[in-house]
Amino acid sequence: MLLGILKETAPGETRVALLPESLKSLLAQGITVIVESGAGLAAGASDAAYVEAGATIAASRPTLLAAADVLPVVNAPGPFDQAHLKPGAVLIGFLKPLDAPNALSAAIARPATLFSMELVPRISRAQSMDALSSMATVAGYKAVIAAADRLPRLFPMLMTAAGTIPPARVFVIGAGVAGLQAIATARRLGAVVEAYDVRAAAGEQVRSLGAKFLDVDLGGISAEGGGGYAAELSEEALDRGRDLITRTAAHSDVIITTAQVPGRPAPRLIRKEAIEGMRPGSVLVDLAAPAGGNCELTQPGVEQNLNGVTLLAPLNLPAEVPVHASQLYARNILNFLALILKKGELSIDLADEVLAGACVAHNGTPVNSRVAKLLDQVTAS
Ligand code: NAD
Repeated sequence: MLLGILKETAPGETRVALLPESLKSLLAQGITVIVESGAGLAAGASDAAYVEAGATIAASRPTLLAAADVLPVVNAPGPFDQAHLKPGAVLIGFLKPLDAPNALSAAIARPATLFSMELVPRISRAQSMDALSSMATVAGYKAVIAAADRLPRLFPMLMTAAGTIPPARVFVIGAGVAGLQAIATARRLGAVVEAYDVRAAAGEQVRSLGAKFLDVDLGGISAEGGGGYAAELSEEALDRGRDLITRTAAHSDVIITTAQVPGRPAPRLIRKEAIEGMRPGSVLVDLAAPAGGNCELTQPGVEQNLNGVTLLAPLNLPAEVPVHASQLYARNILNFLALILKKGELSIDLADEVLAGACVAHNGTPVNSRVAKLLDQVTAS
């Protein structure tokens, strides 16, 4: 059994799927680990550290691709790499199966078995494999640090001989995993924090972090989707949130916005007028940028200065914290691997609801019905 660790090739990607410290339990099962040279460098793990941990450095990327039985990755490798996978190999990572299913066609055809970390069901048993939550935690923290860095003001209240500085006012939209971490981070830096979420259940968590929860009367509409997620709202219900956001933006120094609805484009919650109403120097970080953004002025991946208001729309904040993002991701991957590796051999039981939920394709056929439908649409068009 050979497990391969690739160097990520997506622009700006610095994370690695497994770190040297992750290898112990794999090697103890008799698994051979091969690593592409430089795979962990940006995450602080040298080739020598992997070798010291018991891995071997691959002669080349194609050699590794052709030999590996299991390939944990951060992002899906490109079609050329996929075409060189060993038939029957298992690929595990953020494969974006619902955003870009046809980008996985070459791997499905090898055939490889594909597991997507985005699709791991969010049930208690799979919490230790919840890589979306791990990365959202890192992003929520880093968004506040990025905002504090850009803001021409201090975050904490300071009482000095030269006068008193009031605390920064931070507004967090969407109090899920990223939003709650943003609230906690902003509070630690001394800001006064307000937060808004359509899910009333988020209120208690927001208040427990010392922030004020802003409620919107949705006129009896349920905002709860399945599994603790928000439902997609009507334009009328969204408008009530937009009004609240415009009012709150006017007295906020920083907005961190994280609102998402699974499988849908991010809701457009922040109007142009809300940005126009903010004081010059204010900062907005749109963490929903990968799904299009929560602000109607957001350009994903582009930093803008809009009449003195800085609008950041980062596409991969976890990659700006590569050591700890990789450490958390590697633990999620290791916990997932424990479900498919038994005594050093592959053993995939698709009756297991975690594996069935995360499986994109097996034996050349899409397993996930939503992916199968999307692939059919691509073939038909
Ligand atoms: P997410 O990234 O899908 O969305 C972020 C937040 O945006 C959510 O809190 C959502 O309610 C909010 N939102 C959506 N539309 C909005 C709108 N129009 N206006 C305002 N806010 C809006 O969510 P997430 O952070 O991945 O997780 C959300 C929920 O899932 C939470 O309840 C969390 O506790 C739960 N969760 C459970 C598990 C588990 O059981 N293993 C793991 C992670 C998260």
